[in-house]
Amino acid sequence: MKKIILIPLLLLIIHSFAQSRKTENIILITLDGMRWQEVFTGADSAIIANKKYTPDSADVVEMFWNKDVKERRKKVFPFFWSVIEKNGSLYGNRNLGNFVNNANPYWFSYPGYNEILTGYPDTAVNSNDKIYNKNENVLEFINKQKGYNGKVAAFATWDVIPYIINDKRNGIYVNADSDSLQFNNSALKLINEWQFLSPRPLGVRPDVITYFMAREYLKAYKPKVLYISFDETDDFAHGGMYEQYLRTANREDAMIADLWNTIQSMPEYKNKTTMIITTDHGRGDKIKDQWRDHGTKVLDASGIWFAVIGPDTTPLGEVKTSGQLYQKQYAATIAALLGLKFNPQHTIGEVIAPVLK
Ligand SMILES: [Zn+2]
Repeated sequence: MKKIILIPLLLLIIHSFAQSRKTENIILITLDGMRWQEVFTGADSAIIANKKYTPDSADVVEMFWNKDVKERRKKVFPFFWSVIEKNGSLYGNRNLGNFVNNANPYWFSYPGYNEILTGYPDTAVNSNDKIYNKNENVLEFINKQKGYNGKVAAFATWDVIPYIINDKRNGIYVNADSDSLQFNNSALKLINEWQFLSPRPLGVRPDVITYFMAREYLKAYKPKVLYISFDETDDFAHGGMYEQYLRTANREDAMIADLWNTIQSMPEYKNKTTMIITTDHGRGDKIKDQWRDHGTKVLDASGIWFAVIGPDTTPLGEVKTSGQLYQKQYAATIAALLGLKFNPQHTIGEVIAPVLK
């Protein structure tokens, strides 16, 4: 008698567990070399006061300064510190003992993107050269699953991203830097013309073009997994142009808000999409001038952050508990949000459990 009751009960539990996961789509967004310091504490007064990095400080003060840290960070990232804070979670405020780090020992772009996408902080991945990545990544893993084939796409400003994803091997649609858009869609045709007529002050197409391509592609082709890889924050930081670095971060926050609002109006995405936003590496801080740089020689440049918002993530807002997470954990977490287990040849970091609670 007991057995008869137990089996239906067990089935009910299994069923309700499977039903409880709502994510059907993933949007992953990266802001290259965006420091955790600005994400959690806003504009830095010492860098603003330095004429070398901020020649027109009055402008920056007016736009981004407030003596209250919560107001200040909101001036750079208004969407992060309203909608994501309320409905999602933000990890990596080191001032509160909440740590997120690169697990790879290099703290620059290719090793960081490799770690994000493959879950494997491979020590053999140690240059930014255009080398096709040997490691299996979570995008191609998902693309191989039933219902996802041809439904995974990436748009990037940096032209090394296709090599990191290895689109040649897996056939994922990756559009990067000056890749022509070949779609029979009026918005995408216009954006394609725009990218070739646009100046390239940083030597790559502006991030806003990458963004519009991704948004219009999403509207037209409804990918289930979309990766958008921005680049400008890193370039402006290397150039020591603090105002432009902040302005870019602020515009990228606005693009993320625009994308979030766009998907809320689409039945394919509304309440079925988890968005994860992060960075490939951190930058320096304490030692003079090192905010511009990153890499092994720069103290604390492995300190990163991530934000997550979606129907399966209990909103924690700014995560204030002490803890240590790593970039190598994103890949398994992305798969798990879709109810999949990413199980490549290499070792990977474990699922970030609170993101699925
Ligand atoms: Zn860099």
